[in-house]
This record gives sequence, C-alpha cells and structure tokens, in this order.
Amino acid sequence: MNKYDYLIVGSGLFGASFAYRATKAGKKCFVIDKRPQLGGNVYCENVEGINVHKYGAHIFHTSNKRVWDFVNSIVEFNRYTNSPLANYKGQLYNLPFNMNTFYQMWGVVTPEQAQTKIDEQKVEAIAALNGREPANLEEQALTLVGKDIFRKLIKEYTEKQWGRDCKELPAFIIKRLPVRMVYDNNYFNDKYQGIPIGGYNKLIEGLLAGVERKTSVDFFAEYRNNWKKIADKLVYTGAIDEYFDYRLGKLDWRTVSFKTYVENVPNFQGNAVVNYTSHDQPYTRIIEHKHFEMFGQSVYDCPKTVISEEYSTEYKNGMEPYYPVNDDRNNSLAEEYRKLAAVEKDVLFGGRLAQYRYFDMAPIIEQVLNLRNI
Ligand code: FAD
Ligand code: UDP
Repeated sequence: MNKYDYLIVGSGLFGASFAYRATKAGKKCFVIDKRPQLGGNVYCENVEGINVHKYGAHIFHTSNKRVWDFVNSIVEFNRYTNSPLANYKGQLYNLPFNMNTFYQMWGVVTPEQAQTKIDEQKVEAIAALNGREPANLEEQALTLVGKDIFRKLIKEYTEKQWGRDCKELPAFIIKRLPVRMVYDNNYFNDKYQGIPIGGYNKLIEGLLAGVERKTSVDFFAEYRNNWKKIADKLVYTGAIDEYFDYRLGKLDWRTVSFKTYVENVPNFQGNAVVNYTSHDQPYTRIIEHKHFEMFGQSVYDCPKTVISEEYSTEYKNGMEPYYPVNDDRNNSLAEEYRKLAAVEKDVLFGGRLAQYRYFDMAPIIEQVLNLRNI
C-alpha cells in the first residue's frame, strides 16, 4: 500500500486541476514543483500591491461553459476584456483589425467605405497570386487586409516576434487574428473571458486546497528512481524529452524574456497591453499589469504601477521553454517521444510541456475535466 495514489509533477493548471479532481474522488495526491512557487506559468508575484504575471501575461478566455463554470466555482472572474493597442511610430491603432482601426488608418467611417478601401489595398497582392493560395504570412496578410495595415501593424511586429522575414513564415499564423467590420476591440471571439478576482494564485490555491505539496523539488533529482515506492501512479507535466533522458534528441522551444520596472505613476499607458509594431523599439509589447485587475478609481488608489517589456528571444539551455517550435524536425521528434509515452506504464503525460503542444489555459482544464477513471 503506497502513501499516495498520485505523485503529480508540476503545479501548473494541468497538475493543479488534476489534483483537485483526484482529491474530490477520494484519492491522495502529492504535488511537487521544481520552481520555488506553485502555479506554473500562471503564477503571479505581488509587487506594490499589483499581481505581476511573472511568466507572461495570461488572459483566460473560452466558449466552453463547463470550463468557465468550473474555474468560477473555484474563484470568481472579473470582467477584463482584452483590447490591445498597437503603437506604430507614436500613432495608436486599435486591435484586432476592426472599424476603429480602419477609421484610424484611413478616416473611413462606414463598413462600406472600409470594405472599398480594403479591396483597393489588396488589389496588387491578389493579382500577384494569379489564382493560387497565399503561400506565406506576407501574402496572406496582404490579401487579407492590404498593404497599409501590413506595413504599419504586421510586418515589423511579426519580424520582431518570430525573428524571421514574413515571407518565410507560414500563412496560418496571421489567420488567427480577427478582421471585423464592426467597432469592436475585443481581441477574442470567445463567449467568456476574464481574470480571477484576486489573481491567478487564488485559482491555484483553490485547486490545491488540502493537497500535500512541495516546491523547489526536481522530480529527476529526488523521485525519478523511487516514485513507485510512494505513489501508485505518476502524473507528469514536465518536458517530455527530459523524461526520456533526451534519448532521441532535444526538442527546441521559443522563449520570451521580460524587463520589468516599477514606475512611480499610477497609470503608465492606460491599457494592459500595447504592441509596438515598428523596429524603433526592440520589444514587441509592454504589459501594464494593474489594468488586468484594477478598473476605474482603483487604478489611482494604487499609487505605483508595474510594467513589463516583452522581448522575443532565441531559446538556449536553462531558459524557460514557452512555445513549441512547429517545424518538421521538432514535430516528428515530438511524435516519436509521444509513442514512448503512450506505452509507459502507470504514467499520465499531461499539459503543454509533456505533450509538446501549445494549449491555452481553457483547453488544458478541459482535458483534465474530460479524463475518466481518475
Ligand atoms: P505549466 O504552467 O508550464 O506547468 C508545468 C509545471 O511543471 C511548472 O510549474 C514546472 O516548474 C513544473 N515542472 C516541470 N518539470 C519539472 C520537474 N522535473 N520537476 C518538478 N516540476 C517540474 N493561455 C491562455 O489561455 N491565455 C493567455 O493569455 C496565455 N498567455 C500565455 C503567455 C505565455 C508567454 C505562455 C508561454 C503561455 C500562455 N498561455 C496562455 C498558455 C498557458 O500558460 C498554458 O495553457 C498553461 O500554463 C498550461 O499549464 P501546464 O500545467 O500544462 O504547464
Ligand atoms: N500580429 C501582428 N501585429 C500585432 C499582433 C499580432 O502582426 O499587433 C501577428 C503576429 O504575426 C502574431 C500573429 O499576428 O504572431 C498572431 O497574434 P496573436 O496575438 O494571436 O499571437 P501570440 O502573440 O499570442 O503568439
């Protein structure tokens, strides 16, 4: 008889939601994390009374009512709606591309005027395609929104973010951005969105209430060879290649680095997210964290503000692995590792690192809610 039903490696949303469900089902869990704090990438650090998203800004959004009800049963969510601005050489534009953007770009007021302008802007790019599908991001963007928006809001931002020319990037990346013929700056099309009231740490604490946990513990240093002595099963949310000792080779990641500053003003940029879409600034965007959770007067009741500049950075060993790299080598290597994982006895591989796939928060929770026989 082991002490625990599950040893859970990683206290991010996958591990924490799993622990919540297993505990509810009467199972005994032990959660470990190699970081000094719980929560994985949604962990926030309190600085000057502000929740700072230490591993990147996180906005919860979903159309899945079951997921939304589940997270709200743990902690209530606020009404934050993501509506980033783009700053191109000092000129501001609303995102995603919508009637506000078209008005700011060309002075057009009605959807009909905007459509006429966009059609004009796309003519050359469509002619150049000569009937074939757009083959790269540049062609896709030019045929979707035309040359002015491509030049001012897409080209240089994308080059900064991906470190490559828009002609060398796949077309699908830009298809994700909504193009709307209404005055609507909501970045997402989902039914529900928001930030936990009191911050993401409350969500994690709620999920892990009553669960044994230990931080600053690396699975490979302490439990790799003996976990079967303390737990019946393992839930592993770390990197899949590391679990298999990199025996097939190392997977690549893309990372982001942050420069975070405390500013001695209550309101620095008037919005949570401002994208810098020209090469004049080396960072891609500035996050002002308080605007995720403070609205109206409360912005001014907190005298300081915390901002983070975001830099797209080439991944090297020891950095945070953030986004999987979607190229052929990495995709097929990940597939080989997944085959090894599928036959590993008594181990569940879950979450973004163990699956080597990018998932937003809501799909991660959905996966856990869909698991049977916990
Ligand atoms: P993680 O949160 O990464 O948790 C994994 C945990 O495992 C970590 O705490 C890690 O320390 C631990 N671990 C790993 N190896 C070991 C080991 N050997 N021993 C012990 N512990 C270990 N999603 C959204 O819905 N909206 C957003 O706005 C959004 N923004 C994002 C911004 C960035 C920069 C990134 C990278 C992701 C963003 N996401 C967003 C996605 C979101 O972060 C993920 O969906 C979520 O973090 C996945 O949870 P997870 O538990 O799989 O992984
Ligand atoms: N994008 C852009 N300008 C912007 C915001 C986004 O050109 O101001 C492009 C960029 O190529 C990015 C893609 O649109 O990779 C998708 O943007 P999204 O914000 O969905 O992606 P993320 O930053 O989360 O990867």
